[in-house]
Amino acid sequence: RAKDAGGGGYATYHPDMHDALARRLDLATDLRLALERDELLLHYQPNVDLTSGEIVGFEALVRWQHPTRGLVPPIEFIGVAEATGLIVPLGRWVLREACRQAVEWNRPLKMAVNVSVRQFEDDDVTAMVQEVLAETGMPPQWLCLEMTESVLLTDTDDNLARIVSLKALGVMLAMDDFGTGYSSLAYLRRFPMDILKIDRSFVDRLGAEREDEALVRTIVRLAQRFGMSTVAEGIENETQLTLLQGAGCDTAQGYLLSRPLPAAAATALLTEERNFLKIKTG
Ligand code: C2E
Ligand code: MG
Ligand code: MG
Ligand code: MG
Repeated sequence: RAKDAGGGGYATYHPDMHDALARRLDLATDLRLALERDELLLHYQPNVDLTSGEIVGFEALVRWQHPTRGLVPPIEFIGVAEATGLIVPLGRWVLREACRQAVEWNRPLKMAVNVSVRQFEDDDVTAMVQEVLAETGMPPQWLCLEMTESVLLTDTDDNLARIVSLKALGVMLAMDDFGTGYSSLAYLRRFPMDILKIDRSFVDRLGAEREDEALVRTIVRLAQRFGMSTVAEGIENETQLTLLQGAGCDTAQGYLLSRPLPAAAATALLTEERNFLKIKTG
């Protein structure tokens, strides 16, 4: 399994390039059908407030219920969707479904939806978001669009204009996977993002070296300086939780708190009104 192959590829390793290409083409054909056949679904990962222990939102994460391959994770098909342009209709489906779910829950929670660069750079992205908000009756302030640092790098002026027009709809914007790209601090200042998501790679190292703790503290302080709130990604243990609380990080997601859940399980969790921090600390 070539899980770290990167580039948004698929996870199965094929020594034969021809097979690999064939598989990719199959996947593209299947993906087009998947949209028509309603084979996509969303899982929702809770975003937990590190002070109160309450759920303050969810991140919607797409999965593909493939007729023969089973549940396919996004790493195996988002890259193909981007390369073929299918990401545009796929992304619209994801946004609509996430908004529909949020409206059904009818709580003041933040629903975070990933937007890929390709989707973001589509000329109609603002109109598309506006349409979906209107169609679903989603209050814009409940929606958070997550994008990676790469949107700050290409076509900077056009992308800044898109960000400004998206902000004007009243939605929140988050910088996903912060620290993995090449964004300079100047960009962070220039782009009006509301939330900074600290990449899992920083969280992973917490507890090993004091320097890593200092790094996370610095990122949190920097975000605060720019008026952004912080989300830590990929919390897997208690040590990380404690250190992130100590660093003043606002909220967190991670397997320690909850894995991404099917809609029914996420709904059940909301009904429970569980306090995640109390459970974790006994
Ligand atoms: P992301 O937006 O950074 O999402 C976080 C990923 O980390 C998710 O993987 C989530 O399941 C995983 N994760 C959460 N907590 C932990 C943890 O404690 N440990 C570990 N090891 N992993 C954790 P997932 O669902 O496989 O998604 C992977 C990526 O695929 C996402 O990264 C995002 O870039 C992309 N993606 C997912 N859904 C969509 C979508 O609807 N549209 C687009 N454009 N991209 C999507
Ligand atoms: Mg994300
Ligand atoms: Mg991320
Ligand atoms: Mg990512």
